[in-house]
Amino acid sequence: MDDFEQYVSEGDKAERISCICCGHFPHTAVYEGLERCDKCGHIRAVLDWAPEKFHELYTRGYFKGGEYEDYEEEGLALRYNFMKRLADLAKRHPEGGDLWEIGCAYGFFLEAAQTHFNAAGCDIAADAVESGVAARGVKAVYGDYLKMEKGGPFDVICLWDTVEHMARPDLYLEKAFSELIPGGTLALSTGDIGSRWARVRGRHWRLIHPPTHVHYFTQHSMGQLLARLGFEEVRFSYPPFWRNVNTTLVKLAQKHRVFSLIRPLVARTPLGRINYPLNLFDLMTVYARKK
Ligand SMILES: [Zn+2]
Repeated sequence: MDDFEQYVSEGDKAERISCICCGHFPHTAVYEGLERCDKCGHIRAVLDWAPEKFHELYTRGYFKGGEYEDYEEEGLALRYNFMKRLADLAKRHPEGGDLWEIGCAYGFFLEAAQTHFNAAGCDIAADAVESGVAARGVKAVYGDYLKMEKGGPFDVICLWDTVEHMARPDLYLEKAFSELIPGGTLALSTGDIGSRWARVRGRHWRLIHPPTHVHYFTQHSMGQLLARLGFEEVRFSYPPFWRNVNTTLVKLAQKHRVFSLIRPLVARTPLGRINYPLNLFDLMTVYARKK
C-alpha cells in the first residue's frame, strides 16, 4: 500500500483514496454519483461517508422490504445458489477444512457449508446474525471482520455478494489473504459492470444503487486487485442465479407501474413462491488461491 496516494479529508468524511484496484488516482464522473478509474476502469460511488456510517444501512429493514423484499422468505432460492458454491469449494477442498464467511447475513450459506467444512462467519447486521444463530444454529458472530483479532488460519474465506457493499473491500481482502493457509481459497461473488448486460443497461443497471453498493468491479479491475494483494490462479465464472418470483416482481414494480398492479395478485398465489434460475451473465463468481 506504500506507493498508494492517499489523503484524508477534514471532519468525519471518509478517506478519499486512489483506485483500490490499481492505485491510480484520476477518476472521471460516470453516471450520477459514480466515478470511473481512468486506468483500470473500476467504478466506485462518490460518498463522503465515515466507514461506521455503512453499518447503519444494514438493519432489519434492509433485509425485509429494503434491498431484499424478504431475505428469509427468499431462503430457498438463496440455498440453491449456495449449494452450487459449496459444491465448487468442496471440489477445491475435498478434505474440508476451516471456512470463514465475511458477510454471512442470516447464515444460509454457513448452514450448507457446515455439512462439509468447519464453517463460521460474521456480519455487521446484528438482527440477521441473531436470527441465523437462533433459527439455523450456525456459528456466526456480530462484528466487523476488519476490527476482529487476527483469526484462522483458514482453508477458505468467502464473501458472497459482499465486497460491493464495503467502503474499503481492499482492506478486507488484504486481511483475508493474511488469514488463509498457503493453498487456501478466497471465494467471492459480485456484479460485473463490464459485462455486456451492464453496458447495455448503462446507468439503469439494476445493481447500481449507492450507498448500499459502493464498488462496481469488472473482471479486469477485480483481477488487478487480487493480483496486487498476492492472490494467484484467479478464476472467473458466471453461473445462473436462482431467484424468487415475488422478489422479482417487487423490483420490477419499483420501475414499472404495471408490475405494481400484478404483484399483489401473484403474491397471494403459489406462483409468487416459485424459484427460477436466471443468467444475465453480469454476476461473477471468483475463486483465487493463496500460493
Ligand atoms: Zn484503477
